[in-house]
Order: sequence, then structure tokens, then C-alpha cells
Amino acid sequence: MIAKDMLALGKKSSVIREIFEYARVRRGEIGEENVFDFSLGNPSIPAPAVVGETMQKLIAECDPVSLHGYTSAPGDQGVRQKLAENIVARFGVEAYPNLIYMTCGAAASLTITLRALTGPGDEVLLLAPFFPEYRVFTANSGATPVVVPCDPDTLDVDFAALSAAITSKTRAVIVNSPNNPSGAVFSEETIRGLADLLTAKSAEYGEPIVIIADEPYRELVYGDVKVPYIPAYYDNTVVCYSYSKSLSIPGERIGYIFVSPKMAQAGDVFAAVCGAGRSLGYVCAPNLLQQTVAACDGTPPDLTAYDRNRKLLYGSLTEMGYEAVEPQGAFYLFMKALEPDASAFCERAKKHELLLVPSDSFGVTGYVRIAYCVSYEQIERSLPAFRALYEEYNKG
Ligand code: PLP
Repeated sequence: MIAKDMLALGKKSSVIREIFEYARVRRGEIGEENVFDFSLGNPSIPAPAVVGETMQKLIAECDPVSLHGYTSAPGDQGVRQKLAENIVARFGVEAYPNLIYMTCGAAASLTITLRALTGPGDEVLLLAPFFPEYRVFTANSGATPVVVPCDPDTLDVDFAALSAAITSKTRAVIVNSPNNPSGAVFSEETIRGLADLLTAKSAEYGEPIVIIADEPYRELVYGDVKVPYIPAYYDNTVVCYSYSKSLSIPGERIGYIFVSPKMAQAGDVFAAVCGAGRSLGYVCAPNLLQQTVAACDGTPPDLTAYDRNRKLLYGSLTEMGYEAVEPQGAFYLFMKALEPDASAFCERAKKHELLLVPSDSFGVTGYVRIAYCVSYEQIERSLPAFRALYEEYNKG
């Protein structure tokens, strides 16, 4: 009666969710200010004012029957037109509305894209560290995830490892930059290198290898860091975009899939996206949100708070003696655990009320993810606990 694989998946909540739930209980026991919860990537800055204003304006001024009604399955034509124009203007690549599919966030974008492009017997390469749900989304299409570690010192693509991992079964590589959990941003040189390698391997195996660019953190970068737009470098690219982090609206569930017109068989790829969306029940994303993001697309987030957090956390932890690569984007710090077993390290951190996520589910051992989308005060209050934890491991 019940699908065994789904039962198993439903019963096993993600490590991140488990820690988040533990934090909720612990807050009730010892008080909010005494729990240092760095588990969840939930934006801590409010959505730009224009988001709420646009929604209010739409509700006040639009015909409610059409505003709250179904759109066409891939999304409202006017919205897709506007987003295509914005892609052309912002990134200087070709884009057309009939290759844009509106979705309920990046999770839906990825699930649909993987189902459209892959099936049993196919392999999807995951550059580790990676967002843990990639395994679930890949399994949903019947394909096999293949983990390819990045360089542990730089968090950059390890081209030798990637090249060795590509086989005749490789259909796609998921590229997530800025990265969850590491905050790394792939440089233009890295993206060019990826494009060259995948072009050569596609020719070798006679089948295009697609880059699935998972970009919910595109706008979250610090200083003068640039995030290359992958369709400008590699033709066979599908962009999975979401407004969850860039506009701080993860609960609204809105994003899109953009199929590069330069892809091999772009029209059929898009038709398969429509088919996958239909088969998974992801048709006609919420119209109020479609209209809202069409008006707010490209609004730059105010990153002052995240940047302040990043500097305080990275500066303080590295000064104490912890090792981490300075994050360039997103709102995560990827720090080396003080023992090889990251889960054991997180258990010891818990005793100091520090709630960190062990790196194992991200496809890497020996690290922890610290989500710094929290208040500055939480980071300040947590520093003595981080110091005590460090000293516990270095008692001499
Ligand atoms: N991809 C990455 C790398 C993420 O970090 C997340 C969410 O944290 C998602 C996809 C899913 O995003 P959404 O909330 O838009 O579904």
C-alpha cells in the first residue's frame, strides 16, 4: 500500500531539520538567548520593501479573478517575457519566454530539470560539498548521483577528479555557485575550465553533458566578487533560479527554470521540462508571486547585515585557531572540525549550545557548516562558546 522508498525518505528527516527541531526544544528549556542555532539557511534579513509594496499593489489594482487564477502551465506569458528581457539585459545572453518555466523555488526547478534530462542508468555529478537534497532529487529521476570532491584547500573544482569521474553515462553536472554549504564562488577561469572539459567530454562520448546551474545565491556575494553567468560560457546549460534567498522570500516558493536557447535541442529540452513539471504536479506556479517577482527581479539585496556577520564570524573563529576558507558568497561558513568525525565534533559543540551541521551529508567529511543568517548579537554571544570548544580540544 505504501511506497517503501518514500516511506523511508519521509521517516528520515534531514540532519539539518533534526538540529533545527532540537534547537526549538532547547530554546524552550534554557531560553532563546542561550542557544546558538546556526543550522538553517533561512534568510534573516527582510524582503526588500518593494516586494511587499508590489504584492499590495497587485492585490489592490488587479482583477482578482485573474490574479488568483491559473496561469498557463509554464507560467504567465507576460512574466516569462519580462524575465527573459531581464536575463538578456543583465547577463548579455540570448533568452526567450518560451524557454522559461516558472516553478515553486529551486527545489522544484531542480527536481523538474533532473526528471526532464535524466533517468535510470544515467549519472549526475555532484561537486562536493553540495546541497544534500541533490541526492534526493537525483534519485527521484532514477539517475545515480556521483560525488566529485572539490579541492579541500580552495573549494575550487578539482579538474583531475572531475575528468576522471565523467563516463559515457554522465548526463549532467550540478554547479552551485555561490555554494551552499561552503560560500565559495567559482571564478570565470573555473567556469571556462568547466566549459572546456565538458565540451571535450561531450564530443568524446557523442552526447551533450548538461550543466545544471543551481543559483539561489547568485546575488549574495561580498565585495567585488563576480558570479559568471554560465550560459555565457557553456551552451548546454539549464539555470535553476529561485528568489528564496535573493529576495528573502523562501516561504513564498517561487523561482524559474531557464533553458539556454543555445542548448542542443533546446525546444525539446523545454518540452521535456514541461512534461516533467506536469508529471510531478508542478504546473502553474502561484500567480501572485509570479507577478511579484516579474516586477522585483534583479532588485539587489541589502547584504550589509550578512557581510557584518561574515566578517565577525570568520575573523573571530580564525583568530581563535579554527580553519576555514573565507566565504565569498551565500551566508554559510564551512569550517574544519577539530576532529576527523564531524558528527562527533558537532555533538561536543552541542554541549556548548552551539548547533552546527556536520559536513557528511554535504558529501565531505571533517567539516561543519555554520549558517550565519542569524542576528549579529547571536554571533557575538556565541563566541565564548566557540572559544571554550576550541580550548577543550587544545588543552595541551
Ligand atoms: N539549492 C541550494 C543550493 C539551496 O541552498 C537551496 C535551499 O536552501 C535550494 C536549492 C532550494 O531552494 P528553494 O527554497 O528555492 O527551493
